[in-house]
Amino acid sequence: MHELSVTQSLLEIALRHAREAGAQRVTDLYLVIGDWSSIVDDSVQFYWDLVAQGTEAEGARLHFERIPARAICTDCQREFAPGGGSLLCPGCGGSRLRLLAGDQLHLESIGIEPVPQARAHAESE
Ligand SMILES: [Zn+2]
Repeated sequence: MHELSVTQSLLEIALRHAREAGAQRVTDLYLVIGDWSSIVDDSVQFYWDLVAQGTEAEGARLHFERIPARAICTDCQREFAPGGGSLLCPGCGGSRLRLLAGDQLHLESIGIEPVPQARAHAESE
């Protein structure tokens, strides 16, 4: 159920930006998801189809980009990419690390249609 609340806030953000820009429709959402987040793309897509129904963002395509996690060792300040099942610092072998990136999802940008007539053009791919 985690993805449902995430998807609902994505919709709110997208609609707010679209209205501020005077857009008629939201056509695309570009999402960046950290490798360490528990977000499942398919679940977001599933909920998106439900929550976006009847809004200006209905039918918008979701684009997912995965970014690797980054952590910093709090002992030697070395930055590294945790992975491979090991959470130890490659510099000093320490286990105290702080995650810098990679545990969340954010909305990078959205695609909008400023006028309704532009729709036929967008569907010609
Ligand atoms: Zn270290």
